Amino acid sequence: MLDVRDIHSYYGDSHVLQGISLRVGKRESVCLLGRNGAGKTTTMKSIMGYVPPRKGTILFEGRDITRLRTHEIVRMGIGYVPEDRRIFPQLTVRENLEIAARRDASGRWDMASVLELFPLLKRLLDRKGGKMSGGEQQLLAIARALIGNPAFLLLDEPCEGLAPVIVEELKRTILILKEALPFLIAEQNARFALEVSDRGYVIEKGLMKYEGTTESLRSNAEVQQRYLSV
Ligand code: ATP
Repeated sequence: MLDVRDIHSYYGDSHVLQGISLRVGKRESVCLLGRNGAGKTTTMKSIMGYVPPRKGTILFEGRDITRLRTHEIVRMGIGYVPEDRRIFPQLTVRENLEIAARRDASGRWDMASVLELFPLLKRLLDRKGGKMSGGEQQLLAIARALIGNPAFLLLDEPCEGLAPVIVEELKRTILILKEALPFLIAEQNARFALEVSDRGYVIEKGLMKYEGTTESLRSNAEVQQRYLSV
């Protein structure tokens, strides 16, 4: 479904991604692990066209999206939940969702089905985005991506800054999502990410260091110690 081939991405002269390759199959949930500053967010932003790679290719469902603009990539079916969530603070939950709903969409997700998956948001429909807790905003960011009926989801560090009890709620939601669509999730919280994924990659300093099933990642002491321990 997603095929990232040897991408090199820069911020100005700073060569951040130095040949990243990864793949996600049609029915797969895959995690991208690595410490703070490893290049996870830059990989996500490269896929979404915010930081287009200078070298390498990104294919989505077999089509080259490397040089497309972000809105075109979204239209092709990639939903993006950014690390900073980007909820509209002055708009209510309902309005945040309405803005994201695609009028032409005839997919599985609409206001009713999204609210069924997120009962908490149903209770907060008239709450302004800016008045929500970090965990509530995270759920809204995922709901907002879903209501656009993507074929594939990119989740950038959804656990960041959330209390353990909220992380549990998030896990429940993502495990339900796993049945509905493939995703790539970037996380520093390896334990969480490995629980919701089938396979994973480990990135460090813009280089891919390891790839394997979640079991192999969990049981590899060297990977755990060198790349994943905080
Ligand atoms: P985090 O957990 O902090 O989000 P990450 O793995 O997502 O980490 P990136 O945000 O992709 O890492 O950062 C990779 C490298 O690129 C880091 O060295 C970071 O300092 C640098 N970097 C990130 N954003 C910019 C920017 N806008 N301009 C210049 N350098 C940047």
